[in-house]
Amino acid sequence: MPIQKTEGIILRRQDLRETSIVLTFYTRDFGKIKGIVRGVRGPRAGFAGGAFEVFALDDIIFYERKSGDIFTISQCDLSDYFAPIRESLEKLSYAGYVVELLDSITSPGDKNSDIFRLLHNSLKLLSGDSSPRRVARIFEIKLLALAGLMPGLDRCVNCGIPAESNFRFSLHHGGLLCRACLDTDRMAVSILPGTVKFMEHVRSSTFERAAMVKVSSEVGRELETLLRRYLDYHIERRLKTVQFMKELFA
Ligand SMILES: [Zn+2]
Repeated sequence: MPIQKTEGIILRRQDLRETSIVLTFYTRDFGKIKGIVRGVRGPRAGFAGGAFEVFALDDIIFYERKSGDIFTISQCDLSDYFAPIRESLEKLSYAGYVVELLDSITSPGDKNSDIFRLLHNSLKLLSGDSSPRRVARIFEIKLLALAGLMPGLDRCVNCGIPAESNFRFSLHHGGLLCRACLDTDRMAVSILPGTVKFMEHVRSSTFERAAMVKVSSEVGRELETLLRRYLDYHIERRLKTVQFMKELFA
């Protein structure tokens, strides 16, 4: 692999030895990559202006090392710091949740420029006046769709008959179940038509249009609970930020 150039958003930062750090990026052209940046800590390190902070957007130049799957990052220039996010504990927590969720759902090497754009758009929206809760719900739904994990909402996932308002939601089957198929999952839960409508709308429209849709507080609460349970069911690792936010913004 020759020297590569792309832009990426930092998902994670780990300090390594005395002067180096390991950064995990979600990049536009290469998906998730991990790379070492040398000489950026300690007394002789130059001023990087936030380029190495979590969820900074950077222009990076990197190349493969002889061994392992960690790259060497030779250049890392800050493109956007998303400053407003860092000035609010609520925005900061939601941005932390968004990058942790993305990190847990993606594997190194799976490249998807739509996922990069989704992350970038979500951070831009979190920097503005949008409700962080709404940004998180849109991010979750769009990420599920892009990762091929979107629940089936237009018909019964077991027998295929078109969806009606009396269908229930099955975590196990990953979508709606009709009354005749309820025997296949006794744990299926009720779901509001507004919740189904919102999820379908977010999945099928652009990020900008999805961000403008408002929902009732009842649907908002159900979306939050249902998506949380669905994500926990489909992601093996429990997310650290979820418990933290529960305590902070309940
Ligand atoms: Zn059915």
